[in-house]
Amino acid sequence: MNVLFDQEKLEIRAKERKIPQFKVKQIFFELFKNQHIEWDEMTTLSNQLKDELKSDFSVLSLKCMETVEAETTTKFAFQTEDGYTVEAIIMYHWQDEKYIKNNKRKLNRITLCISSQIGCPVNCLFCVTWKLWFTRNLTWDEIISQILYANAYIFKRFGKKEDWTHRWVRNVVFMWMWEPLLNYDEVKKSVEIMLQQDRFSLGRRHVTISTAGIIPWIERLIEDKLDVKLAVSLHAPNQQLRERIMPIARRYQLDKLMEVIDRYVEVTDNRIFYEYIMIAWITDKPELADELVELLRDRLAHVNLIPYNSNPVIDLKESSEKSIQNFKRILEKGWITVTVRESMWREAKWACGQLGYERVKKK
Ligand code: SF4
Repeated sequence: MNVLFDQEKLEIRAKERKIPQFKVKQIFFELFKNQHIEWDEMTTLSNQLKDELKSDFSVLSLKCMETVEAETTTKFAFQTEDGYTVEAIIMYHWQDEKYIKNNKRKLNRITLCISSQIGCPVNCLFCVTWKLWFTRNLTWDEIISQILYANAYIFKRFGKKEDWTHRWVRNVVFMWMWEPLLNYDEVKKSVEIMLQQDRFSLGRRHVTISTAGIIPWIERLIEDKLDVKLAVSLHAPNQQLRERIMPIARRYQLDKLMEVIDRYVEVTDNRIFYEYIMIAWITDKPELADELVELLRDRLAHVNLIPYNSNPVIDLKESSEKSIQNFKRILEKGWITVTVRESMWREAKWACGQLGYERVKKK
């Protein structure tokens, strides 16, 4: 079925049914600005108009089947029209406790991690996500539906701010089910809608595409001047180890990857986020930290160290806290900015290859 936020389709139908242009605008306003995704909530539209639209359009192209709420996260499991499950997760960045006034903790930012594919075709050694098997790419409207749903949820859960402005998703990260650059056209179209003033109106620096390093599509990002933030799943500082744990590195060699990333930084002036997984005795050795310093020296980079999420089907172990801190110290000594994945991200298993085994098994 067509979705209500498909401008092209909506305008064709508006012409056929002689719906005036201002009413079309009202529909978009209800969806994107008022954060309404239920027909009943769209009170600025007449019942007659809603009845006309209902027969041709559904509001979203995904249905939410499960919501898991916590203080710092909300996870959604959606079902596609053809019966597959995709997930998205909201991350709440609450004000630091030491700055709380009058017992009121402010919600500083809201980030949404979204899916762009069903399963992952990349097959990394340490990952259970690809065991879901790659099924298909998501369409642009399935990607946008995740954000519309999350915004509507935020509105229902938190209401408006004290100054009566709305709270909504301020950062979108393509970092859930998985390789967004292998679904380039649909991802690009969805990003354009995210940036559009009369849609989500996100800043370019508030949209992040995370990639395992698919060189031709990073080149396309440069050509198309999408100018969004880039996160790269690096996971190893040299070709040999990268190839061992990420088979895709055989096709897209590390030196060539770094060349294209340098070009990306040159044209966008964006800092690159490098995801680096901490697997005991494999990626966490001090000499690898030294190599990583060499690789990223003089590059605009930030490293995220992600403790591995151990599971019963892959014989790998999470690095010890001591090894992680030691690795971090070496990077810092080499003037590389680095963070260890915060507990909320870890709890949510938010990162490439961090989907929990239990959930994969369940699916
Ligand atoms: S680690 Fe990321 S890119 Fe690799 S198989 Fe898993 S989800 Fe795909």
